[in-house]
Amino acid sequence: MNAAVHAEVIGASVKNVVYRVGLNALYATGLHRVMQPFVGGVGACFMLHHVRPAQSREFDPNGHLEITPEFLDATLTRVKALGLDIVSLDEAARRLRDQDFARRFAVFTLDDGYRDNVEHAWPVFARHQAPFTVYVATGLVDRASFMWWRTLEDIIGRNSQIRLPLESGEVIVDVRSLDAKAAAYGRLTAEIHAMGEDEAIAFTADLARAHGVDAMEITDRELANWIELDQMAGDPLCTIGAHTVSHPMLARLSADRARWEIEESATRLEARLGRKMAHFAYPYGYRMAASGREFDMARELGFVTAVTTRPGVIFPVHAGHMTALPRVSINGRFQLERFVDVLVSGAPFALFNRFRQLDVA
Ligand SMILES: [Zn+2]
Repeated sequence: MNAAVHAEVIGASVKNVVYRVGLNALYATGLHRVMQPFVGGVGACFMLHHVRPAQSREFDPNGHLEITPEFLDATLTRVKALGLDIVSLDEAARRLRDQDFARRFAVFTLDDGYRDNVEHAWPVFARHQAPFTVYVATGLVDRASFMWWRTLEDIIGRNSQIRLPLESGEVIVDVRSLDAKAAAYGRLTAEIHAMGEDEAIAFTADLARAHGVDAMEITDRELANWIELDQMAGDPLCTIGAHTVSHPMLARLSADRARWEIEESATRLEARLGRKMAHFAYPYGYRMAASGREFDMARELGFVTAVTTRPGVIFPVHAGHMTALPRVSINGRFQLERFVDVLVSGAPFALFNRFRQLDVA
């Protein structure tokens, strides 16, 4: 593997270490408590993906996207103990609109529509009587789209070598060791990010076929089906939100196609679940995937709120930017209760965002 790729992998683990050290340092010094009145905002919107019992997988490049039901339980308990109201997105939107900030609030959101949300997360939220929102990518539920990041994980995880079709000819990459797998995953992820949407999907699909991985089987196993979603949506605690059809990086698409992805997912959810879609989440949600154009689209299409994955807590000023809300990621690699205190304080985001409350460009 070349030097640039190595640097990238080392860079990712350094970032993890800095993050962990930063959270621990804030906690140990109590600085987060000192900062909270100034940087804690009026609420926080938490972001989760998978919630399921820990699996011991050696190669686990997507481990940050899953927490255990026990940690979800501990998080809800801790958030309540810290004095936050756990509210629905509708109620959070109302508080923002009315500037009703007598008490701080927390919103819990889960992206994509995984089956484990129904099996493992829903019972925990129900036990706490805590409202939650699940953002559904309808193409995944319809088994018409697949998750390239999970597919790539299996392509590399289950093989000892990868045959890469490059313009200069086929290149064989040895991925027997864990380090080699991590490096290959980092490199291919970067390449897929640099491609156009259709090219990215075709590339991953071809690679899966050539390496004996069934991308649609992964989707079928991991994503909820319509019956399961309909059941969960029937619980008044559960809000369903839209998350596009095929889970694309919207910013890579033409305006027409991006708008179709957003609108069609809401239309499909409304038809299947018989309820109006008022909330949306941008796939990937970081700056490269969604910014001003997409924030305007979501507002024009009538969504009350739309969430990004830009890190931050919510401030009163967000009332004017409800389709560009930041979120607080509950990262599977940092499942420690004390980190919940630090995240809720807003301190790490104030430092990260250089004390800027609003980031909507
Ligand atoms: Zn997603």
